[in-house]
Amino acid sequence: MKNIIKKKILIYSLPFLIPLILLFFVLLIACMLPMIMFAGQECLTNTNDTYYAGSWSSYDGENDLYTYNGNTVTFPIPPGVKYSYTNSFGADRTHNNKSESHEGIDIFADRNTPALAVEDCKIDKIGWNGLGGWRILMTSLDNKRTYYYAHFENYSPSLQIYKDYNGAVANNTNIVVKAGEVIGYIGSSGSTSSFSKPGADTGTSPHIHFQMYIDGNLVNPYDFLKELESIQKSASSSGLKIRTYADIRYRNINTQKLQEWLDKKRNSKLSEEPYFSTIIGVAKDSDLNPFLMFAVVGQEQSYVPRTNPRAQKIANNPFNVTKPGSGIPGSWQTYNPGIETSAKGAAKTILRLSKNCPATEDVIKWINRDGHGYAEDKNWWKGVSKNFSNLEKNIGYFD
Ligand SMILES: [Zn+2]
Repeated sequence: MKNIIKKKILIYSLPFLIPLILLFFVLLIACMLPMIMFAGQECLTNTNDTYYAGSWSSYDGENDLYTYNGNTVTFPIPPGVKYSYTNSFGADRTHNNKSESHEGIDIFADRNTPALAVEDCKIDKIGWNGLGGWRILMTSLDNKRTYYYAHFENYSPSLQIYKDYNGAVANNTNIVVKAGEVIGYIGSSGSTSSFSKPGADTGTSPHIHFQMYIDGNLVNPYDFLKELESIQKSASSSGLKIRTYADIRYRNINTQKLQEWLDKKRNSKLSEEPYFSTIIGVAKDSDLNPFLMFAVVGQEQSYVPRTNPRAQKIANNPFNVTKPGSGIPGSWQTYNPGIETSAKGAAKTILRLSKNCPATEDVIKWINRDGHGYAEDKNWWKGVSKNFSNLEKNIGYFD
């Protein structure tokens, strides 16, 4: 009897209960939204350093520099990458439970997309900041413009030592970064609190907070970014040079000039012996254009700058070739056979992959074709192609 009464009460109260339950869930989601958007320290960033082992690590911005008001500049995101930003300067942001105005522009892109130095700068501050996460504050060499990049996932390999989980911050460093140089990789590090511990995550979509000061005064960088973007767009619409199978055959290059260029312009470990002559020798034996071989190490490892603390080890497999039969994607970290084996492995792979290239296809793009290519990154060939053109232009041939 009691059970029947209970059931009846339940049935009659359903029309009231359902809206109440729905209201409860709506309120719950509304309350959780800020937590989802600005999750505090629960989401720790991944500290795995393989993030920069991919070919993006070596994006060579050298060809994408433009002149703006007499200064060499570049847009902070490499060409050919999807990104978005709006004029969010001055928008309301809450930090430390206080409403504040947004002091920069957020540029959204996939996690680990490289962020580039917009011009030659000296780093003022690098390390953890509660709100900004892994950030960099840097000033142009004429001391006029200061840039603040925040929320990096990782710094570039040569700056990675400043990702210190004890919270150490380097001030007034003498580190100079060049326009177009990768300084870090886009992420979501930081928090809405100034007091968050190193490794906290904002929980937002990966983006770079780009902030700018001119003569010490905070400015809205939106128009500056728009200008840089439009210069970049008109420059990259010219397209990449199409190369045929014949273009990648061995040619007599100016080796002395190449060695000097690697040494002086790229501070490259590969300008040293036995690395340099081994790569040239393997190119000749394999009937491959030495510029292509160097264009590949340019893409894979930025020509192995000596500033990288692991340059010695990287130089033993700068082509990131795979250990034969291992099935593991190629990386100097997992396979370190020495320069000769690395160069021979790369040459063999290039020859195998380029053999059946149709006459209408770009041969470097063909080497990178889906699922069979040299690299998983489908933009790999663009970097290699640019490096190739750059070497042809700067070094040249003897024949
Ligand atoms: Zn921002």
